[in-house]
Amino acid sequence: MTNSKLFSFEFFPPQTPEGVEKLIAVRKQLAMLKPEFFSVTFGAGGSTQDRTVETIRQIKAEGHNAAPHLSCVGSTRENIRALLFSYKDMGIKRIVALRGDLPSGMGSIGEFQYANELVSFIRAQTGEHFHIEVAAYPEFHPQARSPREDLVNFKRKIMAGADSAITQYFYNTDAYFRFVDESGKMGITVPIVPGIMPIVKFSQLARFSDACGTEIPRWMRKTLESYGDDSASVQSFGLDVVTQLCEKLLAGGAPGLHFYTLNQAGPSQEIWKRLGI
Ligand code: FAD
Repeated sequence: MTNSKLFSFEFFPPQTPEGVEKLIAVRKQLAMLKPEFFSVTFGAGGSTQDRTVETIRQIKAEGHNAAPHLSCVGSTRENIRALLFSYKDMGIKRIVALRGDLPSGMGSIGEFQYANELVSFIRAQTGEHFHIEVAAYPEFHPQARSPREDLVNFKRKIMAGADSAITQYFYNTDAYFRFVDESGKMGITVPIVPGIMPIVKFSQLARFSDACGTEIPRWMRKTLESYGDDSASVQSFGLDVVTQLCEKLLAGGAPGLHFYTLNQAGPSQEIWKRLGI
């Protein structure tokens, strides 16, 4: 398989000095796969935000392309402007622009309501400096009023100036291909890169999926449940299923893959090896 497709890895900012050290080691391993960029998530409304900036600084200092996620909910124009310019000064060229979700019970929504407003703001403040990624939802965003409206709202982000999109993770390839087709019919031509969630632990996957609206198909859920605490079987099944998912996506024309690594190198590396990228 040629490497003309775009591959990337996502991390969350570690909370402890041990987590920082571990992530440095994880990055070293994943850097050998020569991804297009490493991205780092950004918690809406608060305490973890400095750690995103710090992790981005480290990735950049190691000589890799770093892409901070930037979520706007609960924030002000002034805060976002300050972050944008500090990233620009660091030489960052790519941003993943999101609305984010406020932790429950936390503060006001702030000065931005939706991600399309953030994309417009980034373009107004920094012109074409940043390559802007936005989120896409092949199984639709949990708050969307209808699939159609969600697509219209996705298009708003592209019209506001986004260059490409990364999807929420999913296990139904039909949902992805249909989403790409429908987007195309609406005149959206930017690359829509599938987000890939390796399967490591069923309870964690079920929790994430319930929260973000990803369907775990019944045949997968039943099989994973049947393994109980047998984590070796969970992981082996997960690697088979997710490798096949990636194969189908790439063969069907997906422009690349974005791995949600959960700060682990092993599963993404193994899938990569099996794909023969
Ligand atoms: P939006 O595009 O604003 O959409 C949110 C909802 O509002 C949708 O239902 C949409 O249909 C609707 N909507 C959008 N625009 C309008 C409009 N103009 N009028 C009316 N309705 C509208 N979260 C974090 O906190 N930190 C992260 O680092 C992070 N990284 C992510 C990375 C990826 C690749 C993905 C897919 C998600 C990520 N998330 C992250 C989660 C994301 O913040 C949540 O899914 C959030 O609920 C929606 O963000 P969004 O940017 O898609 O929002």
